[in-house]
Amino acid sequence: MVTPVTDRVGDADDDVLGDLAPSDVRVRFSPSPTGNPHVGLIRTTLFNWAFARHYGGTFVFRIEDTDVARDSEESYVSMLDALRWLRLDWDEGPDVGGPYAPYRQSLRHEVYADVAARLLEAGRAYQCYCSPAELDQRREAARAAGKPSGYDGHCRELSVQQVEAYRAEGRQPVLRLRMPDRAISVEDLVRGVVTVDADNVFDYVLVRANGQPLYTLVNPVDDALMAITHVLRGEDLLSSTPRQIVLHEALREIGVADGPLPRYAHLPLITGEGNKKLSKRDPTSSLQLYRDRGFLPEGLLNYLALLGWSMGDDREIFSLEEMAKAFDVTRVNPNPARFDVRKAEAINGVWLRRLPADEVAERMVPHLQVAGVLPSSPSDDELALLRAATPLVQERMTVLDESAGMLGFLFADGDLWGTDEAAAALTSDTRPVLSAARTALAALGEWRTDSIENALRAALVADLELKPKHAFGPVRVAVTGRRVSPPLFESLELLGRDRTLARLDAAIARSGA
Ligand code: GLU
Ligand code: ZN
Repeated sequence: MVTPVTDRVGDADDDVLGDLAPSDVRVRFSPSPTGNPHVGLIRTTLFNWAFARHYGGTFVFRIEDTDVARDSEESYVSMLDALRWLRLDWDEGPDVGGPYAPYRQSLRHEVYADVAARLLEAGRAYQCYCSPAELDQRREAARAAGKPSGYDGHCRELSVQQVEAYRAEGRQPVLRLRMPDRAISVEDLVRGVVTVDADNVFDYVLVRANGQPLYTLVNPVDDALMAITHVLRGEDLLSSTPRQIVLHEALREIGVADGPLPRYAHLPLITGEGNKKLSKRDPTSSLQLYRDRGFLPEGLLNYLALLGWSMGDDREIFSLEEMAKAFDVTRVNPNPARFDVRKAEAINGVWLRRLPADEVAERMVPHLQVAGVLPSSPSDDELALLRAATPLVQERMTVLDESAGMLGFLFADGDLWGTDEAAAALTSDTRPVLSAARTALAALGEWRTDSIENALRAALVADLELKPKHAFGPVRVAVTGRRVSPPLFESLELLGRDRTLARLDAAIARSGA
């Protein structure tokens, strides 16, 4: 299916794999399709992907869409789209199928109903008839008495008469898992042993009164049925792991699943401003934001890899392949990782400079189209001009979105000088500078960067005795409409003689007003 990117299996791998062969590794990415993909989710996906690819195992994509009220098809589609854009590939999933299909939980209701019935029958789960009001009341009372406030086990041993009485009242039961009366420990590959003491172990709900299976049931059930060997997920889910382990054990005892329990690795929290958890509602956590700004998948993934992981040497720039080769989940840092946009941009800039110029040109096109710099179907001439101009901006951009501001002047026609900065730069004082520049450029034989530069230096710096800033600044604004542009002389060469002279003429007319 996938060739392992490493054939070395070292000590850390013993902890991670136990008796498993590397190629037996099966991990999953299991988002709930609510809202837009956010960077935390992508970090989790990336680590799972790298883990699977490191061992030559299987990467499963499963959609956890059992919450009808919150899930949406749109969110599912945007998830697929995001993963494809990132070029993270998976081996089994809703779109590609696989031996454990279907991979959308909304299509697996019969499976869950069957498992729930078997848990009930084996006595591992039981029906609870308590109403929400009763539960609230008893919880409050427990709190007031300083006792643990989780479910109190009221319906664990109901008599046949009590059940009949509840039914006669028309009550519908929820299904609860019977939890052991003991501490539960998880050996987390990132955090070491994590223990929940017996006082905090409560019988929890698996299936609602209306028959709807909950995340608490379907997530571990599918991990068990789909033979998932390792669960890598965010730290926010650590508290659910001890209870899930109990369910996993029950599933094996009643013969619903076999094989070892999954091993867990909880990835560190991602923090944003003020070291607070980066919430998925925070707009700066939205993957779309980074796509719109023109992050490269290579750059963004490289940055996200550093949220809790590192190569081990000081190397911060690496490809997905390199990450997969080196990935070792036991080296994930349990401390919160701060999402630093500046650093993400810097890394993206490095990736932008690494790509071949023609590739950068191609990736700029959609951004230039959104900005209105290029039409929806650019002509061959426009694309050739873009390719010629790319080296000028490739060194200067951190994200592709900046290309519109930098290159707009090359594709624009008409008035470039509507902005305040242009108006401020085109005054009667600058008119003689522009006129001298025009005369010198009009007389030029060859229209090349070096001859353009020589001519302008001679006319403005030598003859008019202007400082370079005062000499070239007005020319830059006249020709590009901006005070900051790609290198001036190269820009003029690309713009061509006729367009340059026409712009100087129009700017002269305006500056004399
Ligand atoms: N659907 C769950 C979520 O999106 C998955 C949790 C898990 O990875 O176990 O939070
Ligand atoms: Zn109850």
